[in-house]
Amino acid sequence: MTSAIPPGEFEIIARYFSRASRRSDVLLGIGDDAALLQVPSDRRLVAAMDTLVEGVHFPVGTGARSIGHRALAVNLSDLAAMGAEPAWALLSLSLPESNAEWLAEFSKGLHDLAQRYNVALVGGDTVRGPLVITVQVLGFIEAGPALTRGGARPGDLIYVSGIPGEAAAGLAVIQGQTVEGEDSELLRHRFNWPEPRVQLGQTLRTLASAAMDVSDGLLGDLGKLCQASACSAQLELERLPASPSMRALFDVAASERFALLGGDDYELLFTVAAGRVPEFEALVQNTEPGCTRIGRITQRDPGQAVVQCLRDGRAVVVPATGYDHFSKA
Ligand SMILES: [Mg+2]
Repeated sequence: MTSAIPPGEFEIIARYFSRASRRSDVLLGIGDDAALLQVPSDRRLVAAMDTLVEGVHFPVGTGARSIGHRALAVNLSDLAAMGAEPAWALLSLSLPESNAEWLAEFSKGLHDLAQRYNVALVGGDTVRGPLVITVQVLGFIEAGPALTRGGARPGDLIYVSGIPGEAAAGLAVIQGQTVEGEDSELLRHRFNWPEPRVQLGQTLRTLASAAMDVSDGLLGDLGKLCQASACSAQLELERLPASPSMRALFDVAASERFALLGGDDYELLFTVAAGRVPEFEALVQNTEPGCTRIGRITQRDPGQAVVQCLRDGRAVVVPATGYDHFSKA
């Protein structure tokens, strides 16, 4: 426990969140009434904001450094889904108490990730209240057609990055639903330290026909992409990427529910027109994270489910409420 006098609001911002920025486009950063930022004249500004509430988006007792990482990561993931290059972030922090140790860890988690993606924290606010963190991120894309959820067309192939379901399995580990060991540590890490797919998103910007990040579960998020694109989809369950750690700790049915219904993966879900697949595969082959083809976009049929799940070519019904995810409690 720290014996230091708890820092006040001004000191919190100065001590934990002010950092000299390497970005020359920050004309005025933290310290004035507002930040002054130079947007390149040939770019469009892309903006996203996400709020995390303790006990809703992460369990009570989560380490402060992991919370700081997550608060920025989930926002960078939204920029990644647009193929944008991140630039700046703003933070609003509601804290039950001014705890120097917690603040040092939280700001470290946030700054470490910010540094990796050359993101400057340019403004912030702290208030006393329940633990709630809101981050806004700003980034750029080149002028021209944007990568959105709405561009998928029948015949396009559906891909997902990484291994969806591991984060949800990690949350189950954290909630004590399984034994501890090497595999549980890997899954726990996948929940606590989501990795925004920023580079992949930028690669996809001119290659993919539609993209979004998986935050609420693959099945539901694919449904949103289909709705935005006025299409349907066939999801081939046997193609879902396998997670050895998940399978070591959970049975086949639970693993599939994590993959389809679990949230918090922050992987990219995207579609590629069939004619562009060779170009896409050449570009993402042997890069991290791997991408897996999991289905195809089809014509919307009002008599069918928006997302049809197939197992070995046969339609199967996936119970939508098979797994009670923490974030949906
Ligand atoms: Mg999103």
